[in-house]
Amino acid sequence: MNYFANLFIISSPSGAGKSTLLNKLFSANLHPMKFSISHTTRDMRPGEIDGVHYHFVTKEKFREMIDGKCFFEWAQVFDNYYGTSRVNIEEYLKNGTDVFLDIDWQGARQIRKQFPAVRTIFILPPSLDVLRNRLVKRGQDSDQVINSRMDKAKNEIIHYDEYDYTIINDDLETAFEQLKNIVLAERQKTANQMVKNAELLKNLTK
Ligand code: ADP
Ligand code: 5GP
Repeated sequence: MNYFANLFIISSPSGAGKSTLLNKLFSANLHPMKFSISHTTRDMRPGEIDGVHYHFVTKEKFREMIDGKCFFEWAQVFDNYYGTSRVNIEEYLKNGTDVFLDIDWQGARQIRKQFPAVRTIFILPPSLDVLRNRLVKRGQDSDQVINSRMDKAKNEIIHYDEYDYTIINDDLETAFEQLKNIVLAERQKTANQMVKNAELLKNLTK
């Protein structure tokens, strides 16, 4: 099935700035676009809302959803499960809405296999020291959790070369412009325009 909307995956080590960049993107009037809300078994952080940031579920419920083939992809990240449910993604794409997934490299690999047209973007911090400082300043995790996220950051960063695009999130505005440019350029791909403007292109070329 050809869509003129795009499915985007944004990955990064935790704390590199994915959520911040995605929030800016969704505030920038580039609609139609939709953020896919994942399911997770991890605890809610201060300020998070069930059904907005994630669907927070128990491990039992998550296992039931795996058995029921509810997930497009799922993975164990840190000590918890995270998954993207199938619901709605194709429906949004069919209706011309770009869909954004904030998922890790394991999920990206699974989706690439099922949906080769996916566009993938990896966000890197300018250094590991900056990454740690951002996790500390975010103020949502204990020292123990921050240490564990830093231990795992390298294992995530090494997968950057599996992605179509790489953004180094040093200056936030620069990184945001780069993300916005990628999204806008992908919309203008000839293959997308052939679907979006099929009638117009037929008339122009007959
Ligand atoms: P992620 O979603 O990748 O885990 P966040 O978006 O939560 O990361 O960002 C982690 C912290 O770093 C947040 O407190 C955020 O405000 C801050 N941050 C993100 N990008 C930048 C940047 N370019 N410069 C300074 N601080 C940033
Ligand atoms: P956090 O606990 O910081 O919200 O997310 C931890 C990691 O899990 C991040 O790398 C994030 O991209 C990833 N993640 C969030 N949702 C999903 C999902 O549905 N699937 C997969 N594979 N990873 C996810």
